[in-house]
Amino acid sequence: MNNETLMVRFPNYFRQCNFHCPYCTADVGADNVRYKWPYRENHRKILENLVTLDRKINVRLGPAGEFFVSKDLVEDARWLSNQENVEGVNLITNLGFTIKQYEKFFEGFNLEKVALTVSYHPTEIKNVEEWERTIRYLNGLMPVSIVLVAYPPLVYILPSIYDSLSDLNIPIAINGFIGSFQGQEYPYAYTDKQKSILKDLSFSRHEYEFWINAIKPGLCNAGFKSVFIDIKNGDVYSCGMPKKIKLGNVLDKVDFALNEGPLPCMNRKCMCDSENYNPVVFEQYYEKTGIALRQYRYRFEKDADKYPQMSEWNVEYW
Ligand code: SF4
Repeated sequence: MNNETLMVRFPNYFRQCNFHCPYCTADVGADNVRYKWPYRENHRKILENLVTLDRKINVRLGPAGEFFVSKDLVEDARWLSNQENVEGVNLITNLGFTIKQYEKFFEGFNLEKVALTVSYHPTEIKNVEEWERTIRYLNGLMPVSIVLVAYPPLVYILPSIYDSLSDLNIPIAINGFIGSFQGQEYPYAYTDKQKSILKDLSFSRHEYEFWINAIKPGLCNAGFKSVFIDIKNGDVYSCGMPKKIKLGNVLDKVDFALNEGPLPCMNRKCMCDSENYNPVVFEQYYEKTGIALRQYRYRFEKDADKYPQMSEWNVEYW
């Protein structure tokens, strides 16, 4: 078996949600009660093919709405976590359920292979203490990270939100807002003042440069160490951005070939980055600390103790 883990980004476009966030860009809602997920069959078939690969895989299952609203998704994630060549199953939740409900969801999972990202939605939290109890409970079961989206009108209150969450001792990631707000395109429209606030909160230099500063990516491992799968037809691509390379298909059988090495990115910016950390510059400067996305460390911390010019924020980054 090839020892290097293949990172798999597999959005499922499940569109139902139990929250009504005012800033939701996925355009989903709890009213959508008759929703029937159109990709149920493709989802399972693709996963069944992926687990026949002769290498370890770390799969990020991403919905457009809330993952744990779907019994099908929970069932498939449970099954996936029990497959031999699966190193990690990365899930995301809005934390809109009780501890009892999460206990039930995670019954039968191999929790050693599961990591969770919690997206923080302040307008939907009814009881802060309960919310904190739930995230602490989950963090006791598996690696958990919190993600805050730097929605433009929220940028100035993010530092106080960040402070209020710091006591949890759970990694917090800042995702730049990608989209248009009041006629301006983000992340490009962040002001210098907003950038400076977001820089102070960013978990890493990499996170800041790619998500807030929106630098143009260079050499990338997409298609070499990671793949993106289109659930609509099983097509396998190097990544999920518009300018990508088709590698094959995985709907009826495994039929794709990876690139032989990193290639230059053809896009102006990278939106896949917080999931697979594809750019070569990431692996040069950082190492992952486990199966969880959004959990990694700067490789040269010890050297920087001796030579501050080598610190994460001092080196030339790209
Ligand atoms: S840097 Fe991002 S957008 Fe560019 S090829 Fe890599 S994953 Fe795709």
